[in-house]
Amino acid sequence: MAYRVPFVDPRTHYRRYKAEIDGALSDCLENGDLIHRRQLFGFEKNLAAYVGSGDAVGLASGYHALHFALWAKKLREGDEVITVAHTFAATISAIVHVNATPVLVEVGPDHNMDMNALEKAVTPRTRGIIPVHLNGRMCDMERCMAIAKKHSLFVVEDSCQGLGASFKGKRGGAWETGCFSFYPFKALGGLGDGGALTTSDPEIAQTARWLRYNGEDRLTGEFHMHGYTALLDNIQAAVLDAKLKHFDEWVAHRRAMAELYRRGLEGLKGINTPHYPGKEYFDTYQNYVIRSDKRDALRAFLTEEGVETLVSWPRPVWSYPGLNLPNPHLAFTELLCREVISLPMSAETTPEHVDITVKAIRKFTEK
Ligand SMILES: *Cc1c(COP(=O)(O)O)cnc(C)c1O
Repeated sequence: MAYRVPFVDPRTHYRRYKAEIDGALSDCLENGDLIHRRQLFGFEKNLAAYVGSGDAVGLASGYHALHFALWAKKLREGDEVITVAHTFAATISAIVHVNATPVLVEVGPDHNMDMNALEKAVTPRTRGIIPVHLNGRMCDMERCMAIAKKHSLFVVEDSCQGLGASFKGKRGGAWETGCFSFYPFKALGGLGDGGALTTSDPEIAQTARWLRYNGEDRLTGEFHMHGYTALLDNIQAAVLDAKLKHFDEWVAHRRAMAELYRRGLEGLKGINTPHYPGKEYFDTYQNYVIRSDKRDALRAFLTEEGVETLVSWPRPVWSYPGLNLPNPHLAFTELLCREVISLPMSAETTPEHVDITVKAIRKFTEK
């Protein structure tokens, strides 16, 4: 069905930036630059500068960034890595795939890691922390880094939803090791899967560069380890580099649309909007997630009204038998699974889209 308000709009996005996207593609194709060429290196440099990190390594996905960041920490079986349950499965799978044990903790009202819960979860076996900057809002990184320092733990930021967001002026991915995703519907999206790792530690950057190329150092031909095939494609890097120039405009647009949502939805009974206290936070609204205790009925009503929505995530990650995770009994995470609903939000979302969506939600609450 054609929605009056699409959740995202990749066709309109392409038409808006057609000249630049086509230009980036033809630059690669005309020059035969398909693998590990200047377009990749150029994007890495610009991404590192944008994030405020020493280096960036382009990878096949955000998952690979998480996996390689953990790989570089040489974890042993039984080592624990603390993260949240309210995240995409990839965060947790990366821990499982390096044979470590994921320890899942509760999130707070802003859907991000509860730092008190983090502190309580530290054991003698804990090696590291993966804070997840969800929906374009940072975790309290000052507390997170202080806890890490106190217990000598590493920090790998899952910044897959956090590009451009900052805490006390420092961006997601700049605090220690950052992991980014350029999945098409992330705020900076490619034409397919893509990702990057950011770090100021040359050793971690080097390890990720070897791992993405089957363990080979491209300069010397030396194989340093058994690696993976996980490069960011040159054509993806070229397109992402062209799009990165517009990224701050898109963040400003998302924040303006979020403000329109806030004004339209403020005070509505049974609706919680994602506007949280703290001047030290700069939110990008990668997703505009509201809460409703009648979420499923609201979602059905919005579909009828022609408004496309998404639910991330309808079930707690530990409820899938195939993922084989113990139940950490996190009541607020379970509540979020019942109540969250993401409203249309992208660089293509218009004030009219927001208006239609707000009116439909008002109509629902007045029923
Ligand atoms: C998208 C996402 C990932 C994974 O990124 P991919 O590029 O799809 O592998 C990891 N964590 C979070 C929080 C994400 O939103």
